[in-house]
Amino acid sequence: MKPQNKSRSLIYLDNNATTPVAAESAAAVSRCLRLCYGNPSSSHAPGINARTSVDKGRREIADLIDAKPDEIIFTSGGTEANNMAIMGTAFRFKKGHIITSCIEHPSVLKPVNYLESLGYSVSYLPVDNYGIIDPSVLEKHLRRDTVIISIMHSNNETGSIQPIADVGKIARERSIVFHCDAAQSVGKVPVNVKKLRVDLLTIVSHKFYGPKGVGALFVKRGTALKPLLFGASHEKGLRPGTENVAGIAGLGEAAALAKSEMPQRVAVMKLLSKKLYEGICSEIPGIRLNGHPSKRLPNTLNISFPGVEGSVLLEKLKNDIAASTGSACHEGRQSPSSVLKAMGRSDEDAFSALRLSLGRNNSERQINRAVRLIVKAYRSLRH
Ligand SMILES: *Cc1c(COP(=O)(O)O)cnc(C)c1O
Repeated sequence: MKPQNKSRSLIYLDNNATTPVAAESAAAVSRCLRLCYGNPSSSHAPGINARTSVDKGRREIADLIDAKPDEIIFTSGGTEANNMAIMGTAFRFKKGHIITSCIEHPSVLKPVNYLESLGYSVSYLPVDNYGIIDPSVLEKHLRRDTVIISIMHSNNETGSIQPIADVGKIARERSIVFHCDAAQSVGKVPVNVKKLRVDLLTIVSHKFYGPKGVGALFVKRGTALKPLLFGASHEKGLRPGTENVAGIAGLGEAAALAKSEMPQRVAVMKLLSKKLYEGICSEIPGIRLNGHPSKRLPNTLNISFPGVEGSVLLEKLKNDIAASTGSACHEGRQSPSSVLKAMGRSDEDAFSALRLSLGRNNSERQINRAVRLIVKAYRSLRH
């Protein structure tokens, strides 16, 4: 399905902000809205029908990450899943120590900051020039009272992928709860909760062609959490409230689609982003890729353009290309990306960055056209 833009020719390269809903997922949502009107907690036929739909979604998302269906807790999205994981773990203790990284999404950093204000202590791990943490540095920060480690799978701005399995090994050896925000990775690259040895993992539907306003937290069997919301006993009492039945159906369908398309998705994204990057590099000298050259999401290119501000370039391109500078969540605020700054970039390099994130709707023709448009816009600004 093509994204439904008014201007048919707009090239959507902002898939890390959100993705267009896949036709299969939209159809599942629509089918559910029309046919599954019952309350999944009711024992009559319409209720059972809705419950069956929720159960299917739970199996499909569990299947994508190699979890069991009873290890999936549905939420309103990634923000809620991250808050639930971090505060739900920390609140089991009156105080304690938290380890995270300085490049996490605000939905991890803000709850951690809040816990700090309550008296918990926090270690914010640094990253190298590629935006990657060092597990041996993490090991040095471990304390007797460390209650949770929270490290993202891949970064939303640069696409750099963290050594999650290594952190998982360290955490499991010491029985410390390990949370991973995999919002940007699930559906883009294989994510396996067993191989990664995570206890908690955040999943966001709208980052992989599902609807917005729905997500999930993987909670490994035996991992205790305090609820943040109080009400009836839905989702094992961890997340009370009548389920978002249609949203869950859409999330499940998006997960099934991701599973069946995964090898092809990775290969096509790699090919197209290579084409885009090499096309730009061959025409503009001094281009700099922000993020790890190989340990990265196949769809994400964060590029610094010498002598031009990313926001100015974006403005010039806005009728043809939708992309972003830094993280979409920070837009409107004119400060250099804290992620790029943490990677040791100068203010100038950080301000000149553009994030181009590809998706399954992009064609090779679009990518060739994007190269021409970007090069033309850059040259006109340099003159
Ligand atoms: C998008 C995103 C989130 C938050 O998801 P919402 O659905 O907007 O709540 C969390 N973490 C990362 C890394 C993200 O990219």
